Amino acid sequence: MTAQPGTVHLVGAGPGDPGLITVRGQRILESADVVVYDRLVSPELLESAKPDAKRLSAGKAPGGRGPTQAQINAQIVEHARAGRSVCRLKGGDPFVFGRGAEEIAAVAAAGIPWDVVPGVTSAVAAPAAAGIPLTHRDWASTATLVTGHEGEDTSSAPVDWAAVAAGGGTIVILMGVATLATTTARLMAEGRRPTEPVAVIEWATWPDERVTLGTLADIADTARRIGVRNPAVVVVGPVVGALRDDSA
Ligand code: SAH
Repeated sequence: MTAQPGTVHLVGAGPGDPGLITVRGQRILESADVVVYDRLVSPELLESAKPDAKRLSAGKAPGGRGPTQAQINAQIVEHARAGRSVCRLKGGDPFVFGRGAEEIAAVAAAGIPWDVVPGVTSAVAAPAAAGIPLTHRDWASTATLVTGHEGEDTSSAPVDWAAVAAGGGTIVILMGVATLATTTARLMAEGRRPTEPVAVIEWATWPDERVTLGTLADIADTARRIGVRNPAVVVVGPVVGALRDDSA
């Protein structure tokens, strides 16, 4: 007799602090038979899985080794087919630059039931943790989320930087450390002011969170000098200075 397939729950783990997973996500994590987790999921969070739950790392350090996306998809499908409930735990929100959609497409194609538990995305949580409002009555009515790493995954179409710059509001860049110099130069070339404030927030909500402030003109140099590393969120716009008087 073939077992009924288990459900695959695609769960957002939040930006890092184990307190920032949702209540629903936490309950699924506590009851899952299999937990497949990413690199940016706190080890502390994994401690709340059942003692006998299978824990599988799907982590890929940037440029490093790890399972391929196809291997991850196959593992998830295999465990669910065997009747196990799978908690696919992804950093932040699973559908924000996370390839969650590709995994769900594979699961759905295999006829396996699935659902999504939204997560607190670093795109919003990192600025918030640093005291930076993404929107503000006086400063910004829009916020644009953009990848600094076009083409890292096949799902990302090229970024229209002219349109991003012209939008005028807050710009939030994920995966943007390696390309910070070219991105900031591009935004200035497209008309953003060199004096526009920028914040880089590394390891937001983790114990080693660090916030670096500057302007479009100088942040790339500063970041290189002090050794800014991934994961980091870059925020561009006057909101950076809205609640801080130490900004540019
Ligand atoms: N799905 C995730 C994003 C995955 S892409 C989310 O919603 O947050 C990975 C990028 O997310 C990193 O390169 C970095 O830009 C950002 N990121 C994730 N966690 C972060 C954290 N705790 N602090 C700063 N940036 C983070």
